[in-house]
Amino acid sequence: MKVSRSSLSRLGRRLCSTSSGGATSTVVDLCDSIDVRGQHVLVRADLNVPFDKTTGAVSDDTRIRGALPTLNYLSERGAKVVLCSHLGRPKGAVHDSMRLAPVAARLEELLGSPVAAAADCIGDDVAAAAQSLSDGGVLLLENLRFHAGEEKNDAEFAKAICDASQASIFVNDAFGTAHRAHASTEGVTHHVEHAVAGFLLEKELKYLKNAVDVPTKPLVAIVGGAKVSTKLPVLESLLAKVDTIVVGGGMVFTFLKAQGMEIGASLLEDEMQEMARDLVVKAEASGVRLLLPRDVVVAESVEPGAPHRVVAADAIPAGWIGLDIGPDALADVADVIGSAKTVIWNGPMGMFEVQPFDKGTMGVASLLAEATTKNGTTTIIGGGDSVAAVEMSGLASSMSHISTGGGASLELLEGKVLPGVAALDTK
Ligand code: ADP
Ligand code: MG
Repeated sequence: MKVSRSSLSRLGRRLCSTSSGGATSTVVDLCDSIDVRGQHVLVRADLNVPFDKTTGAVSDDTRIRGALPTLNYLSERGAKVVLCSHLGRPKGAVHDSMRLAPVAARLEELLGSPVAAAADCIGDDVAAAAQSLSDGGVLLLENLRFHAGEEKNDAEFAKAICDASQASIFVNDAFGTAHRAHASTEGVTHHVEHAVAGFLLEKELKYLKNAVDVPTKPLVAIVGGAKVSTKLPVLESLLAKVDTIVVGGGMVFTFLKAQGMEIGASLLEDEMQEMARDLVVKAEASGVRLLLPRDVVVAESVEPGAPHRVVAADAIPAGWIGLDIGPDALADVADVIGSAKTVIWNGPMGMFEVQPFDKGTMGVASLLAEATTKNGTTTIIGGGDSVAAVEMSGLASSMSHISTGGGASLELLEGKVLPGVAALDTK
């Protein structure tokens, strides 16, 4: 009965969202319209944290802390919070090393109130634990990916999660998995009355979607990193929206090679040359400035402190590897950032993990931090390695927004609809 009624209401919402194309509904919208006290609320968070190998304790609790605003908000309003997440890649089997119990322990400390940890995420025992929750209490379900149905978005499994949690309200706060249609991101929305975004997801959408949909111009995209084949489609779709694209990182060499230059032993994705060539032509045709580095740092090997020098981009010696952008290139980037109102950065400028090839990346990080704090420029950082580089620079707190989802942020910038977001209610 309940399922068919909620399916109907979901259909209604979908029809509504297609016709109005409204913004995603949030947990605040929900709590403004209904009283959640005493109601079970299923919250999907990204609690996929690393553990210390010797103590087994959580070694970086950033993601747990990221979930706190939504959890506190619901808890303070007396909701019975049933929290769920994946952890690692157990591929549908139970692995003791991927249990969420240490996460419950850390969450308990951060919330300052008890967090019960369930032994599974579906079934009668979970239902009993959810039933015994007090108003404002939190129950953490076991790793969703212990069941193969999670990543397969199995409808029965999704229903089983909702049945066990007894929730008719779903709050998605896991941006990092919003680009995947999994049981806990998409499937569950078919079995609840309300499906809304939590604070973390809302913030990601606000920055990443607004930056490209309704940008404050000039809008600059700085794109680097190693995976040319995943980054070129992003560049392609950004062409219609940005004023300037800065290309850096290992991607650069595919562009240089495509223009007939020698790139020595630098990173090359041969089959991407044509697309790189196309992109240069398209940028010119659409009046977008596409900035390639004038100079690069080349090295004899990728070893730390390997013999290296700065050369013009069209003078890379045979056998040498391009590992960073050069000082002139960084000066060009500084000019571009200086006149931008919004900057999106995805992908490091060089092999920043190895000294001294971190200079371009660290240089961009400090330029962005300065632009944010001194000029009020909106700066958005996405991509796992780019975020790691910014954390390493110690400047993370100076940026406007650091995205918690690598793949999801790229897909948003590409203009794709994230299934975990599309499944939520609209205003
Ligand atoms: P993100 O995770 O931010 O999206 P990517 O995964 O695409 O970024 O790329 C990050 C990786 O790119 C880093 O490990 C870095 O060492 C590598 N990289 C950057 N520049 C170069 C280069 N010139 N040659 C080889 N690897 C590079
Ligand atoms: Mg990466």
